[in-house]
Amino acid sequence: MNELENLLTRLKMDHLSGAVENLLEQATKEELNYREFLIRALSQEWNGRRSRGLESRLKQARLPWIKTLEQFDFTFQPGIDRKVIRELAGLAFVERNENVILLGPPGVGKTHLAVALGVKAADGGHRVLFTPLDKLMATLLKAKQENRLERQIQLLSYSRVLILDEIGYLPMTREEASLFFRLLNRRYEKASIILTSNKSFVDWGEVFGDNVLASAILDRLLHHSTTVNIKGQSYRLKDKRKAGMLSAKSASDDAIMSGR
Ligand code: ADP
Ligand code: MG
Repeated sequence: MNELENLLTRLKMDHLSGAVENLLEQATKEELNYREFLIRALSQEWNGRRSRGLESRLKQARLPWIKTLEQFDFTFQPGIDRKVIRELAGLAFVERNENVILLGPPGVGKTHLAVALGVKAADGGHRVLFTPLDKLMATLLKAKQENRLERQIQLLSYSRVLILDEIGYLPMTREEASLFFRLLNRRYEKASIILTSNKSFVDWGEVFGDNVLASAILDRLLHHSTTVNIKGQSYRLKDKRKAGMLSAKSASDDAIMSGR
């Protein structure tokens, strides 16, 4: 091992260590000055560390799939204000512990946008956790039965961004709604929630099976939040619609078509 490799190993600069000979060669070829070379070498190490961190954060996030904002076709959903999404992508909402609520019928891209913001947050160094609501409920109920609800809620609070997908597809029991409220309360003004729902806020009383609880939940959730209401058509059905298998349909027809 030469002296340089030895130093890089001791300094734990693994990413630079593997690339340093190449970088030196390039620097000679391109006649880089000392400062340029140093920047390039340190960038190599930094980018390597960052992408390794991102990889592990994405794994911990348990996203159902990876989709990015760049993959989202805004021309298909002209009702969405791109400025709002761009603002969210800047992650100020995470810094301020604010919430994001994505509303709309099935297939309009709620989960896609939630995941994409989650990827952004992970890229920005934040801990993210995605969970469908039914899974969250099962987890909380089980924890309660086993007398470790506090600990479970604590565990869920480690993530800086908690993505709760599909509120409203199934109605909650009163017990579930109050567990949901406890989780919300714990995160209130301390960490962000990104939530998706097919139900508009007026129907949340029904979703949570209790109007008083629903308004307490909405109160916490909406206090510092951005709501994106997507009114367009289902992206899942766009090719079928194009092929003439469906006539121009309303959102509620989409809901029936997708069987939800
Ligand atoms: P929702 O959660 O609103 O039911 P999804 O986010 O699951 O809808 O979207 C359904 C599928 O369509 C996903 O594969 C998603 O990536 C894709 N999709 C939805 N809207 C768009 C869009 N505007 N541009 C690109 N892909 C989209
Ligand atoms: Mg969805």
